[in-house]
Amino acid sequence: MSGQSKKFYVTTSIVYTNAPPHIGFAFESIQADVIARYHRLLDEEVFFLTGTDEHGAKVAKAAEEEGKNPKEFVDEISKKVKDLKKTLNLSNDDFIRTTDKKRHWLAVKKVWLKLKENSDIYKKKYRGFYCSGCEAFVTKKDLKNGKCVIHQKTPEIIEEENYFFRLSKYSKKIKRIIEKDIIKIIPETRKNENLSFVKKGLEDISFSRPRKDLKWGIPVPADKTQTIYVWNDALINYISALSYTENSKKFQKFWPADVHCIGKDIQKFHCLIWPGMLLSLGLPLPKIIFVHGFITVAGRKMSKSLGNVIDPFELVKKYGTDPVRYFLLREIPPTEDGDFTYEKFEQRYNSDLASGLGNLVARVLTLAEKIAIKSYNPKIIKPKVDKTWKDYKKALDGFKFNDALVSIWKLISFCDKYIEKERPWELLKSQKLKVKGQKLEIILNNLLFTLANIAQMLRPFLPETSEKIFRQLGVRPTAKKFWEFKIRKSKPLFPRLK
Ligand SMILES: [Zn+2]
Repeated sequence: MSGQSKKFYVTTSIVYTNAPPHIGFAFESIQADVIARYHRLLDEEVFFLTGTDEHGAKVAKAAEEEGKNPKEFVDEISKKVKDLKKTLNLSNDDFIRTTDKKRHWLAVKKVWLKLKENSDIYKKKYRGFYCSGCEAFVTKKDLKNGKCVIHQKTPEIIEEENYFFRLSKYSKKIKRIIEKDIIKIIPETRKNENLSFVKKGLEDISFSRPRKDLKWGIPVPADKTQTIYVWNDALINYISALSYTENSKKFQKFWPADVHCIGKDIQKFHCLIWPGMLLSLGLPLPKIIFVHGFITVAGRKMSKSLGNVIDPFELVKKYGTDPVRYFLLREIPPTEDGDFTYEKFEQRYNSDLASGLGNLVARVLTLAEKIAIKSYNPKIIKPKVDKTWKDYKKALDGFKFNDALVSIWKLISFCDKYIEKERPWELLKSQKLKVKGQKLEIILNNLLFTLANIAQMLRPFLPETSEKIFRQLGVRPTAKKFWEFKIRKSKPLFPRLK
């Protein structure tokens, strides 16, 4: 590879540290991980960022409830989020914390001062509806029957003096940016939602809160009575992690982001406020904002009070990393809401992993162990493999993780049918040694070649399983052509769940 390879920058949103990470964030970070690994497979130079959003009144309150100081509290939660890397086998290159005074705070201050210099930050008295769930002033557009659409809470009326960001100034430009896909919002339904917001005209938004109400946060430069409010803090992580403050080589290389992966609840901030800030800063805009839905549990919203919050650590402990990755990517639609149940999980595990992939690998390797394969001629299955690669790439380029997996599993079932048709075990028993040798060799050639390609396609999705298959085949994932196998059959990949 030359040093000229294309760069690719992908981010998750940063996890709000008022509670430990649940399965929803696990889903988002696994999606982002697949994107990162896929682009590495395409030989691009990838930077994959995740991290934690640690300021705000809700964090301070959660800490107080546990009798901890906020720093102590966020250190613990942030560590849990960081631990997801190992548990979910994430390949993130960096992890940014908004309490990082060196990397993050300096960037936040730099942005603030630049926005102010451009007259895009000003102070005014403000009276408005405030939703404590959103930790934000909300407008009538955010309310339904007088309640916050997200939190089903009646907002309080608050009057205070805050700094505002002149978002209204960028309304027309942002509308055009979304319309023309200059920032491509995926899926289309989310693009249309944001367009309908921006068409009503964007209002200026509060960028600070009085220090007395929000102590746990970054102070406004040169005004100790005010704390910087979430947008000009959390959103900056995408550039602070690249050392925007020093205008580093890393920043120049990787910004703008190629993909921001986010949940639907924070799309307005990313699709409307963030572009406004970047326009004011004169920085390039992210290319894609990919919005996923929510995970329900047995049809119900996850919540502490219902006691149905799925802990990703527990789930991985019970089933293993790759089965969890597989289930979420295969069962939950990439951009819609999806449902989790243990029944569905175990059903997918047994049918797709144990009986599907695991069984095929075991079957082929049992046969391959018994004969020496000298020639290389995978002609029979090659067109099918090529077609699968085409479908797979098309699906992944469109962020359709489930469709990419479907195409791999179609190839798996094609192999099963091929084995049933050719009945190689009968050839193995046959007395006509010459015929048996040649025909068997061709069949196994085709199957091993296909398994190696399946392992390659699985690299972004099930990295550990992919490695195990390559090891059993005795070929390297980086091989240009898959042949010269050195079979080393091992334990079943996915023992059936009882
Ligand atoms: Zn709310």
